[in-house]
Amino acid sequence: EQLANQINAGEVVVRPANAVKELVENAIDAGASRIEVAIEEAGLKKIEVVDNGSGILGEDVPLAIRPHATSKIKAIGDLQRLRSLGFRGEALPSIASISRMTIETSTADESAGSRLVAMGPDILTHEPGAKRRGTKIIVEELFYNTPARLKFIKSLQAEVSQILNIMNRLALAHPEIAFVLTNEGREQLRTAGNGDMRQVIAAVYGMRVAKKIRKIQGEDLDHSITGFVSLPELTWSNRNRISLFINGRYIWNLDLNRAIIEGYGSKLMVGRFPLAVISISMDPHLVGVNVHPTKQEVELSKKEELKNLIRQAIRETLADEVL
Ligand code: ADP
Ligand code: MG
Repeated sequence: EQLANQINAGEVVVRPANAVKELVENAIDAGASRIEVAIEEAGLKKIEVVDNGSGILGEDVPLAIRPHATSKIKAIGDLQRLRSLGFRGEALPSIASISRMTIETSTADESAGSRLVAMGPDILTHEPGAKRRGTKIIVEELFYNTPARLKFIKSLQAEVSQILNIMNRLALAHPEIAFVLTNEGREQLRTAGNGDMRQVIAAVYGMRVAKKIRKIQGEDLDHSITGFVSLPELTWSNRNRISLFINGRYIWNLDLNRAIIEGYGSKLMVGRFPLAVISISMDPHLVGVNVHPTKQEVELSKKEELKNLIRQAIRETLADEVL
């Protein structure tokens, strides 16, 4: 079982940024309104994620690091309806199997919280702990027993920027959650959690950029979209500032990217790319999310309709600009 976990971890957690993403998504799934992440040595030495979410019942803590002990699927049918980010019960066991993990957690209705420390497969301690509601997970010495993975990591700086990218996206996807990221004690990202996407864009891309963005909005029978796009004068030579979210999940889809570009029409210089942060709400039945282990690639049953909606929303907003 431990071996299976490690092999599994090889797919789910190939770099520290993957661990950060899974831990923060768990905090989001737990209903947290505040999530603080601290990393040291690009997450290899330490990743700490503190949330004020539901917490985990003391008796369930050891189960949370056992494979497929997810609390998020009650029946197979739930997989279809599911809106939460995690659903396979693989992430926490995978990370635990290749690190030293400390979990401090407390639910609203328990008299005491609990604290568990595990080193790879072994649970070292499981005792009563602090009562502050929510969960703190500390991951230390990631990949300590998988030297091949460690060797694969070439540059700490590249890992840090990958973690920052992931945190930026999570913050953009959830303006209603307050995020803090610190790297070696230095603050890299802070959002207010007041639901204002423009403010999150300012926190991520700077005030100068946030002044040159416009709100877009649209709806058809199956989708509702809202977000911000940059004015045609504010463009970049790459797509890095295009973020699409479906039901709160970051996704990558070239066709939807094209729809954004098409929305600008001739206003956009060839080879230039705008900033676009677009949240899409739709019936989960219309999205196939399990096509890739990182859960980023999706299959859309009404892709053409959605492309039209995006194109049209951008066109309308930019047309207003010209007047
Ligand atoms: P899942 O696919 O369910 O997200 P994980 O391996 O990521 O599986 O987590 C295992 C279980 O541990 C979750 O289903 C959840 O019950 C619990 N859990 C993990 N992190 C948290 C957290 N920050 N707050 C509350 N519960 C958590
Ligand atoms: Mg999860």
